[in-house]
Amino acid sequence: MDLSQKIRNIPDFPKEGILFKDITPLLRDKEALKEAIVKMADMFREHEIDYVVGIEARGFLVGTPLAIELDKGFIPIRKPGKLPDEVLNVSYQLEYGKNEIEIHKDAINKGDKILLVDDLLATGGTTLAATQMIESLGGEVVGCAFLLELDELSGREVLKNYKVKSLLIS
Ligand code: IMP
Repeated sequence: MDLSQKIRNIPDFPKEGILFKDITPLLRDKEALKEAIVKMADMFREHEIDYVVGIEARGFLVGTPLAIELDKGFIPIRKPGKLPDEVLNVSYQLEYGKNEIEIHKDAINKGDKILLVDDLLATGGTTLAATQMIESLGGEVVGCAFLLELDELSGREVLKNYKVKSLLIS
């Protein structure tokens, strides 16, 4: 199946001038969803992985089924104030303003091999902040997996120290 047909372009969302890539048609189609998750798993099946880490919110939609497909557990990275136990917090710069993400301090042990997952790679800022958090807890990022990569933004360059694989490139 041509999975790229299942990604919808929505102009001016969430604000004017932004062309939003909407993955909900892919999620809604059971065959497309299954194929996407199996193919994303195939990209990293040969790697030694202990946990899949997904970034809120759409990283959960892709990351949890990917963890099941790879027979691994799933660890969430969340927006501030959502995780109930002790957290590590990282803030990072966006084009306008800043963003923060959190992870439970006890979620990752020293030496754990982590596959980091999000739905979409744009500037790479979110994923880079997540790698810093994982590494400061002693984890090793063995790869970064995305459903979709926006080629015109330089996310791959920002993540040049990591093995980055995207199922679809746009
Ligand atoms: P980055 O930090 O610039 O790479 O942005 C990636 C994050 O923003 C991911 O968590 C995405 O879910 C979200 N994101 C940015 N642009 C889009 C889009 O067009 N569609 C869906 N998510 C997006």
